[in-house]
Amino acid sequence: MTATTTAPPGFGVDTPVSRITGVGPKQLERLERLGITTVRDLLFHLPRRYDDTRELVGLAQLRPGDTQTARVRVRSSMKRRTPKKGINIVEASLEDEGDIVTAVWFNLKFIPRPLQTGSEIIVSGPVKWSNGGLEFVNPKYEYARDEQHHVGTVAPVYSVTEGLTSKQLRDWVEPLLTLASAVPDAIPDQVRGEERLMPLASALRQVHFPATPQEGDVARERIAFEELFLLQLAAERARRRRQSGRGVVVPYDVEVARAFVASLPFKLTDGQRVAAHEILTDMAATGPMNRLLQGDVGSGKTVVAAMAALMAHRAGLQAAVMAPTEILARQHAATLDRLLTPHGLPPRLLVGSTGARARREVIDALASGHDALIVGTHALIEDDVAMENLGLAVVDEQHRFGVAQRQKLRQKSGAMPNFLAMTATPIPRSLALTVYGDVDISELREMPPGRMPVDTRVVPPAERAVAYEFVRAQVAAGRQAFVICPLIEESDKLGVKSATAEYERLRRDVFPDLRVELLHGRMPSREKEARMARFVEGDADLLVSTSVVEVGVDVPNATVMMIEGAERFGLAQLHQFRGRVGRGEHRSHCLLFEGGIDEDGSRRLEAVAHTQSGFDLADLDLRLRGPGDVVGMRQHGLPEMQAADLLDVALQQRAREAARRWLDRDPDLKQYAPLSEAMQAYRGVFDLD
Ligand code: ADP
Ligand code: MG
Repeated sequence: MTATTTAPPGFGVDTPVSRITGVGPKQLERLERLGITTVRDLLFHLPRRYDDTRELVGLAQLRPGDTQTARVRVRSSMKRRTPKKGINIVEASLEDEGDIVTAVWFNLKFIPRPLQTGSEIIVSGPVKWSNGGLEFVNPKYEYARDEQHHVGTVAPVYSVTEGLTSKQLRDWVEPLLTLASAVPDAIPDQVRGEERLMPLASALRQVHFPATPQEGDVARERIAFEELFLLQLAAERARRRRQSGRGVVVPYDVEVARAFVASLPFKLTDGQRVAAHEILTDMAATGPMNRLLQGDVGSGKTVVAAMAALMAHRAGLQAAVMAPTEILARQHAATLDRLLTPHGLPPRLLVGSTGARARREVIDALASGHDALIVGTHALIEDDVAMENLGLAVVDEQHRFGVAQRQKLRQKSGAMPNFLAMTATPIPRSLALTVYGDVDISELREMPPGRMPVDTRVVPPAERAVAYEFVRAQVAAGRQAFVICPLIEESDKLGVKSATAEYERLRRDVFPDLRVELLHGRMPSREKEARMARFVEGDADLLVSTSVVEVGVDVPNATVMMIEGAERFGLAQLHQFRGRVGRGEHRSHCLLFEGGIDEDGSRRLEAVAHTQSGFDLADLDLRLRGPGDVVGMRQHGLPEMQAADLLDVALQQRAREAARRWLDRDPDLKQYAPLSEAMQAYRGVFDLD
């Protein structure tokens, strides 16, 4: 369908929708609820799908059953009350070529007025037998005209709210589509040509009123491409600006790398080799590195980071490694001590519990440009900690920190240091292209040899006793076990309590003969360390805990990970817990206790049981939960997408290529004003903007 009416005089894309005839205070409120306040908003409120009622049947072919559509003449129509129940109904007698059926409307919020006798209508709805004849029940209809807007056509179906209908939206949008050409097309002609895209105005008209649903999809993709093109352009610009900016250069000394690799008690995996090469090359380039190293727990990220730190040290620069918990920071310090002290680079530790005097010492040494490798927690980013000479900033489990905290570490020195984030919770591939558009990614997809997969099982409530017997047997064989209880985010109290309650229950009722330990995030860190240490040293058989053990803790002797209320955790998080075991020589087990009431939850748990790859689980998690939940798009400040599906990797890639080509031609976005204007929405979205 093409637009047949035009916008009222004086209307523009910024005109408030309140000026549309038929939009009263109530409707205005409903539109606002949908985020629609201007004509532009209305034009970009795209259909969710289409109602295709183009296929007409003659009344002679009408059959009882699902929706059918016919073009008919109204013989008569009237409103009446049913004799028994006294409800209002509207009836019409309809005919075509001598065949007659009735239509009836009842039990609706809005009963239509009786139809005009003698008029032609297109009627569409379910058909039933009634009183020996066929009857349309509560059909949609529209008077036949040159152009159908609602019935007998491809009609857009919108997201609406209570009291607002797609029919109303169609009637409002249709005349305003003449204003579509006043919406600036952010895609330059050249790109449009290369990508074979229609102008935005045509896409807007076509997405609302396509000739076929397929045409509607094509138009939507055109609009989606524009959204992704802008996103990719913003990301790519941030990247180029960073790369051309002043950064600390760490020369790549191949001999240093060789000597380090030769000193290791194992052979690097291919993944580690490639990642190390990418990182060292990146650090040696003029712009500061902004890289994410992702790999499953135990894939050997620390070794790679250690090599980068050593390279910085040999260049006379400092390196900092920041971890989200004290346990983890200490562990890193211990690992790095083993790896780097032999190369003359002993790490120093700075955490919350570091004593005042020791802290002063570290801070003074750092400020003087010495103390080349510092490992710690948030304590590293406190204001009085300066690192004048910082060449490399590493943040482990980076998602545990906010953007501001990561920035603070980067800004510790005058020049922009190389930045390496590490995570064992991989970013789904599709999001790597968007939210992380300005981040380069290195991946460790393979595990060091000899690592056994963790046997994972979903345990229904009825099998709990059997599972406990299994745990008892493992402990009898000298092993240890974790028990994780969900920590409920809205109410910390509840989560801690349930861990505490579970601890009491296990200790008293289930394993009175075993040594059970409790650990949770609200304990003073000293207390946590002490309890963790007891478990690490084998002085406890069971450690009941909250998600605080998600990151870090390396206990090779632990072979069982039990997770209570497993449905409450995300797939990626469950995978993290699982990574706490299987770190030693013994076969390990992960038991996912489920409530057994949530079918969806059970399916997700089965997915964890059958998938060992964190990368696959991250993609699955995103698909199941949707991008909104998983990454908190708004938190990243991304403008809302009307058409684009952030999970559409192919379109993302196409948009990224196009954005790169455009920036090669027009690096400062001076050639096409609508484009630079559209970029305003992306200010501050990317880390280094
Ligand atoms: P991540 O930080 O990715 O969880 P780590 O760097 O802590 O993993 O490595 C996990 C364990 O594997 C460490 O004990 C480490 O020494 C060991 N490791 C790392 N790389 C290799 C390798 N290529 N071959 C054998 N063991 C390795
Ligand atoms: Mg690690």
